[in-house]
Parts: sequence; C-alpha cells; structure tokens
Amino acid sequence: MKTAALIVAAGRGRRAGGDLPKQWQWLAGRRVADRTLAALQSVAEIDQALLVIHPDDVALAGALGADYVFGGDSRDASVRAGLEALQGQGIGKVLIHDVARPLIDTGTIIRLIRALDIHTGAAPALAVTDALWRGGDTVEQAVPRDGLFRAQTPQAFQYEAILAAHRTHPGGAADDVEVAGHAGIEVAIIEGDERNLKITTPGDFARAERLLMANEQRDKMDIRLGNGYDVHRFGAGDHVVLCGVKIPHGRGLQGHSDADVAMHALTDAIYGALAEGDIGQHFPPSDMQWKGAASDIFLRHAVALASERGFAISNCDVTLICEQPKIGPHAGAMRESLATIMSLETGRISVKATTSERLGFTGREEGIAAMATATLVKS
Ligand code: MG
Repeated sequence: MKTAALIVAAGRGRRAGGDLPKQWQWLAGRRVADRTLAALQSVAEIDQALLVIHPDDVALAGALGADYVFGGDSRDASVRAGLEALQGQGIGKVLIHDVARPLIDTGTIIRLIRALDIHTGAAPALAVTDALWRGGDTVEQAVPRDGLFRAQTPQAFQYEAILAAHRTHPGGAADDVEVAGHAGIEVAIIEGDERNLKITTPGDFARAERLLMANEQRDKMDIRLGNGYDVHRFGAGDHVVLCGVKIPHGRGLQGHSDADVAMHALTDAIYGALAEGDIGQHFPPSDMQWKGAASDIFLRHAVALASERGFAISNCDVTLICEQPKIGPHAGAMRESLATIMSLETGRISVKATTSERLGFTGREEGIAAMATATLVKS
C-alpha cells in the first residue's frame, strides 16, 4: 500500500498581505506551495503528493508541475475532495498537510508514518509552555495549561478511515483530527517541531525565511574529511605505476590490479569521507575482472559516487612513503594525472613524498606505502 501526501492549498488567506493568497507568495526565492510540496516529496516514504487548489490558481499550480484537484468552499470540503480523488490508487496511509507550513521536517514526517503502523491516526503537536489566560481587554482568568497542546500538520491517518470520517462529518471542523474524533478515531499525539510554523501574518514570512536560510547554511556547512592508507610490496618488474604515472624502476609493485598504491589510498580517502566503505567492498579482489586493472577505474568510481551524493571534492593530499624511486621529479606529472581523472584543478591536488629514514619495511625497500586525505563539500 502506498503513502500519499495531501496538501491543502485552496484557501484565499490574505492576512499575510500581498496580492496573492499566502501559499502563492514568494518565500526565499520559491513560492510557499513549491517549498511545502518539495519538503514532502523529498521524503522517500511518501509515494505521491496531491495539491488541493482553488480553480483560480490553475496556472500557479501548473507551473509547479504538481498533481492537483479543486477544493471546496471550506477546509474540510477541500480535504474531502482530495481524499476522494485518491480513491482506487492503493493508498494505505495519507498525510494531510497545510500548505502554509513549508518548514515541515523529515523527522516529523517519518515519526507520523511509523505511528500509523500501530494507530489509525497520528498528529504532531507541541505542549503549551506559556501561561494561558482567558479575557478581553483585561485578564478574566488563568487557564491551566496541563494537557494542552498546540496542533500542527501533517495529520496522518489510515486512508480508508479518514475518508469514511469525512464522508459522515457535518462540516465546519478546524482540522482533520477534529473530523477523526467525530468518527471515534483515536489520534496519537506525536512530538512536533517548533520550526514547523504556519505562515499567517507578514511577520511569519520573515521568520520562515530566517529559518530556511539557517537550514541552507547548515547544509552548506556539510564538510567531510576522509583518509586512506595502502601498502604494496615490491616484486619482479621494470616499472611502478603511481598516481597513474608509469615510472621506470628496477622492480614492480605486486597486487591484484596495477598496484597503484597512491591512487588506492586516495580512492579510499574519498570512500571514507562518504562513509562508503573501501575499494575492496566496491571492487572485490576475488572478482577476476579487476585483475591487472588500471586503478583509475576505482578513483573515477569514488569521484562519481561523491558527485551522486551531492559532494564536490575540495582538495586532496597524497603522501608516498618510499626510499626509491624518487618521487619529486614525477610529482608534477602525478598531479596532472589525478587532475584529469578527477576533473579537479591541480591547485587542489597535492602529491608529496617522504622516506622513512631507512627504517621499517619502506626503509628496507620491501614495498611502498601511501596515505591520502580528501575533503568533500556539499555542493
Ligand atoms: Mg591497494
């Protein structure tokens, strides 16, 4: 069974000011309805989203490329129109959301969908923490806040149950929890999010914009660091391949592929930054197709994976540890080689080397070690 999101966007709300209903006004460069739709569609657990709009707004909804149906004269008439339109599409769960809440977060959505595994209805809310009064110009009486909640949306239900509840409701409900309650459906209270504000007044636009900018800033700050380390032993041969550059040498490096120890360390650094395992996981040594393979296959795969995950490689730094061959004369060619493979400017690629003062296996020239670091930035 599928999970649908129904976005109620048929209102004519003008309290927010402006020439258009609030859901069609701009919020940090996108229309409010566009942001709300995108927030719901970005959650993998939601299979489809349907906007309920006013017939005057066809051009605006069409510009979003959204599926839509026309609403009615009241909020509950609009929700019912949307629910009826979802019939026969294999919908098991439905989330009914006010379009004026563009800051809905993935965490709340997931909590609601999970809650429907055991409840017929679930809705997000925040406990009231301010003191409450009843009064006019003056305070008449303090109202106990114990057990009081501020309701939010999306309100989530088993689809058939909320459709039946709307069909029998006399109308005039403030929200779908009220409709559900009228039909005897128990609704679980799920923890909401303070940022999931409902845009009502002009001041709310400014507040929502600040929160969106904070989110975008946080996303921009997603910086990943990864490191890699590799060793290959010397064996028979007349050259080694390091960072894709063939260097004549009295011995060769042994390995399943071309044994490019530097490129392996760098590839692992990128996988590490992505928390995506290591070369061995992506290219098992048991798989004969990688025998003797040029290692740029591995590096190209890691770079493509970073890009798929939305990351740009900011810089990388490779250190080779060996006595021989001398790396210095080839470092420039190695940086150029990596730049070509990674489509990255050479100014962001460092290749350097050190000996280990004749100590250890590299000092005894039994093999070459390499270490690498890569920085990835969410782009
Ligand atoms: Mg290796």
